[in-house]
Amino acid sequence: MVETSELEQFQNFIDDLVLRNKSILDQMTKLQDASARLNRTLSKSATTCGCIKMNIIKQQLDFAHITSPEELKSLLSTHIEGYPCPECNEAIEKEMGRVLFYLAAIANTLGISLSSVLENEKTRTNLLGNYSLK
Ligand SMILES: [Zn+2]
Repeated sequence: MVETSELEQFQNFIDDLVLRNKSILDQMTKLQDASARLNRTLSKSATTCGCIKMNIIKQQLDFAHITSPEELKSLLSTHIEGYPCPECNEAIEKEMGRVLFYLAAIANTLGISLSSVLENEKTRTNLLGNYSLK
């Protein structure tokens, strides 16, 4: 018996729910909207709540003197100070959920397994190793 992954269960769950946004065009625009809302929620954590601070500065790297991927990783900045408070964390997770919802809806419409997407991405990223900087 093949075990159903959590992602497959999620896709099946979404497939049963998607009635209003059956059109791929609706799903595409809803995914874009969800992504924009996620970014807005992140920025509001900094600008409205203030639980995180975004300190955007140029990455100061001297590649000639960096000797390992671990050293590079330790020198790169996320440009975020602090962590989201519980309220902001809840809002961010909600928006991430919306992104996953519409991504799953698009995958369902196209007959694509998100589990396969995840496995293929892990394999591709492993093959590229440290050159897979995205
Ligand atoms: Zn907050």
